[in-house]
Amino acid sequence: MDWRVTDALQILLCEARACRTCAAHLPLGCRPVLSAEQGARLLIIGQAPGTRVHESGVPWSDPSGDRLRDWMGIDHADFYDPARVAIMPMGFCYPGRDKGGGDAPPRPECAPLWHARVRALLPNIELTLLVGGYAQRYYLDGGSRGVTDTVRAWRDLLPQFLPLPHPSWRTRSWVTRNPWFEDEVIPELRARVRRLLL
Ligand code: SF4
Repeated sequence: MDWRVTDALQILLCEARACRTCAAHLPLGCRPVLSAEQGARLLIIGQAPGTRVHESGVPWSDPSGDRLRDWMGIDHADFYDPARVAIMPMGFCYPGRDKGGGDAPPRPECAPLWHARVRALLPNIELTLLVGGYAQRYYLDGGSRGVTDTVRAWRDLLPQFLPLPHPSWRTRSWVTRNPWFEDEVIPELRARVRRLLL
C-alpha cells in the first residue's frame, strides 16, 4: 500500500464530492456519488445517479443495482467494499430528466474533469466494467457501435474492459432478445469478478 497514493486519492475524492461545476444544470443540486480506495481491483463505470441514488448517496442502491449485483454474482458486502470495488459513474450527480421523461444524459463536464485523475490513483484496477452506452462511447470507440454490438464484442475488449448493457428494467427485453448475453457474458463476468475479489 502506497500511503501517498491513498492520501492523494482521499483528497481527490473529497474535492470531487465538493464539486459544483455544473450546479446550474442539476435540478436536485450537486451530490456527487462515487466510491473508491487504492486497493480496488475492479472498477465499475456506469451512467449517472437516479433519484434514489441521489437521495441515498449510495451508488447503485436501486433496482438497477440489484440487477447488476445479480449479473456479477456478488452480494452487498462485496459490492460496497471500496477497497475491492471502485464505483465511478460518467456523471457523478443526478442530471434530471430529458424531454421524454427518461433519464437525462450524464453531465458532459464530469468525466473529462474527474475520470483520468481518479483512475491515475487506482493503480490496481485489473478490470473495468463499462455499464451502458455512455461509458462505452467515452472509453472505447467514440460511439461508432451501439451497445448491442459493443457488448457482443466483449471478448475483444478483455482483459481491460468488459462492456455491459445498463441494467435498468428496460434491459429485460434486451436480454431476452440477446440470449448469448446470459449464456456467455454473465458466466465470464462472474468468473472474473470472483477471481478479482479473492
Ligand atoms: S456532475 Fe460532475 S462536474 Fe457536475 S457538479 Fe457533479 S461532480 Fe461536478
